[in-house]
Amino acid sequence: MLKTIRILCVVLMAAGWVGLASATDNVVAVENVHVLSMQPEHGEAIQRSQTVVIEGDRIIAIGAQGSVAIPEHAQRIDGGGNYLLPGLAEMHGHVPPLRSFTGVPERYLDDVLYLYLAGGVTTVRGMLGHPHQLQLKTDIAAGTRHGPTLYLAGPSFNSNTVENPHRARLRVQEHVQEGWDLLKIHPGLTLPQYQALAAEAKAQGIDFAGHIPDDVGIHHAIILGTRTVDHLDGYLAAIDGLENPVTDAQLRELARFTRAHNVGVVPTQALWQTIIGAGDAEALRAYPELQYVPQAVRQGWLNYLDDPRSNYFGGESAQQQQENRMRLLAIMYEEGVEILLGTDAPQLFSVPGLSLRRELPLMAAAGMSNYDIIRSGTERVGEYFRAYDQFGTIKAGSRADILLVRENPLEQLDTLYEPELVIAAGRIYTRSDIAAKLAEIAAAYAE
Ligand SMILES: [Zn+2]
Repeated sequence: MLKTIRILCVVLMAAGWVGLASATDNVVAVENVHVLSMQPEHGEAIQRSQTVVIEGDRIIAIGAQGSVAIPEHAQRIDGGGNYLLPGLAEMHGHVPPLRSFTGVPERYLDDVLYLYLAGGVTTVRGMLGHPHQLQLKTDIAAGTRHGPTLYLAGPSFNSNTVENPHRARLRVQEHVQEGWDLLKIHPGLTLPQYQALAAEAKAQGIDFAGHIPDDVGIHHAIILGTRTVDHLDGYLAAIDGLENPVTDAQLRELARFTRAHNVGVVPTQALWQTIIGAGDAEALRAYPELQYVPQAVRQGWLNYLDDPRSNYFGGESAQQQQENRMRLLAIMYEEGVEILLGTDAPQLFSVPGLSLRRELPLMAAAGMSNYDIIRSGTERVGEYFRAYDQFGTIKAGSRADILLVRENPLEQLDTLYEPELVIAAGRIYTRSDIAAKLAEIAAAYAE
């Protein structure tokens, strides 16, 4: 049965507070919730019948119902016995450029940012910067724009932007000065260029991550300190596993090597399954979430399935590669590699926020427990970004990134796909807010 969220007392709304206003000093108490804190010391234990108090963008108190002082002026939300957990992260996301591109309306950028929230994604590691994009971080933090908290990689390092090792070093310095959070690596760099980049990144104290250029290879990239390997890139290439069967021993050696160097992976299994031609084309065409992307984007994705040059006309090897990728993820999980949740949205049938419903089942199919899947998008991400802020746990002092869902997500993962309430850095989005906005987005992109 669908439990509704009742807002008992909306003092702040009467004072003129609306969704987008700065959340700076609002006090909100979410009552009557069962809390999955994702604090490692709590493990999978659920704290039943709790109250969570938020002030501005922070969680300030949690405790058993009745034991927590609720300020008189607080907005009180009845959580209706639902489950409360930290908001999720998209660790390989994309944010469109500020200026619209061919055939895509101006509103696309803001719709993408909202879709992340709609899908319960309250943090995005943006994996390809565009000029002026850093302004979005400020706008969202200031409350003048809806969206998840952003950590952004700059424009990519690739064979076009890096001509030689010297240029790689200079570009690292430029990105640090400009204020990017991460250096994004694309294919095409030579090993000397990659080495120069890695050395300069270390000197400057900035991470680099992304693809594994062919000339570098997975072992060098890991030794040189890539922070994450995205898309599990480079692993199967190293053991001739893109088209051929591989052994568990080969996969385990790669997993142990990754673990030994404290490198994380962002698997993006669903997106890669689609790209390599191992997806179910009919199922992809029927994804209901396609209605939330502009016609031009949607058509581009659909065209991929029919393009004779795409991997959908490539024969058996795609299935072999996908099987190898799933076994690789399973063995990485067994070996304790840091796995971070990411879907590469918006990319080929990966609709921001809503793409989690495609990725999570594949993580489960690789043997990950529901708890560890949730952890890959919450507590692990908080650890990853601990130099910036505290989040990814329900704990006093953590950023108020919160989901309220109908069922216990440890028992039923799909309850995460349609949160009853999303709180992003203290800003509140109810199910009805989200439903209304999704309907508006769908209507805008209907033609
Ligand atoms: Zn990407």
